[in-house]
Amino acid sequence: MNDLSSTPVPPSDSLPRARKPDWIRVKAPTSKGYGETRQLMRDLKLNTVCEEAACPNIGECWTKKHATVMILGDTCTRACAFCNVKTGMPGRVDADEPAHVAEAAAKLGLEHIVITSVDRDDLPDGGASQFVKVIQQLRANTPQTTIEILTPDFRGKMRRAVEAIVAARPDVYNHNLETVPRLYPTIRPGARYYASLRLLEEVKRHDPSIFTKSGVMLGLGEQRLEVHQVMDDMRCADIDFLTMGQYLRPTPKHTEVMEFVTPQAFAAYGAIARAKGFLQVASSPLTRSSYHAGKDFAEMRAAREAQLAKAAAAGAR
Ligand code: SF4
Repeated sequence: MNDLSSTPVPPSDSLPRARKPDWIRVKAPTSKGYGETRQLMRDLKLNTVCEEAACPNIGECWTKKHATVMILGDTCTRACAFCNVKTGMPGRVDADEPAHVAEAAAKLGLEHIVITSVDRDDLPDGGASQFVKVIQQLRANTPQTTIEILTPDFRGKMRRAVEAIVAARPDVYNHNLETVPRLYPTIRPGARYYASLRLLEEVKRHDPSIFTKSGVMLGLGEQRLEVHQVMDDMRCADIDFLTMGQYLRPTPKHTEVMEFVTPQAFAAYGAIARAKGFLQVASSPLTRSSYHAGKDFAEMRAAREAQLAKAAAAGAR
């Protein structure tokens, strides 16, 4: 990959970084559906990334009973500069968690569920076996629900972790690259860009039928050509689905927003990504990995079926 760190590319159309633009503002969550989703999560003692990451879409998603469950506790062993999840020594793994996740999926009537986790560098398998148990429990209880997992990088334990999780056959395997490689030392200091790419390559190597997905946050100081390079790297790793959204600073302790990327610039990035061959692309200021994940999954699956049908028709000629 080229070293683009010194390339003088101007940022896309941007607003002064201190002022939050109108397109970022969202309504406070007050609906009945929101309250019911919240209560169910409390009753089942489940954590969600929606709350822990202070996601701006929580009002919309929880009103529709879409929540992204965060397994393996609420405490992460890493301290990424962008992330609101608390850092420390996590507690024991909850043996009842897989059953509770499956119960939540059934009660919420989820056609598609997204499961993520904190980083668990303290566990011998990085938490991979808990992902497997959750997938198995969901398949047993709600076989019609499609499953998307968003995992950590399983530092130092990646090969075995990926092998175990892929064998459990989630429908979508997501792992976010989060930002461009130049910014890793400050934004994602515990992670390695190429290790994350390799994880997604491993998923495809083990089972090409599983959709792979990854995402980046924009507004952290990345340059346009660096984002294009990340897209190329992802395509080389055969990643099917790219998400791009605006980074928002959860608290003043977290890294600053360097730029509010306009909706037009997000649309332009999205068009470039589609031209580079991703099966599915979501690119807007409020895009998050799990935002509209069910609808996007259905579209991606239809796009693959159309591609396969086209290839079969061409082969029959
Ligand atoms: S976008 Fe994802 S994390 Fe945010 S509220 Fe919706 S489901 Fe939760």
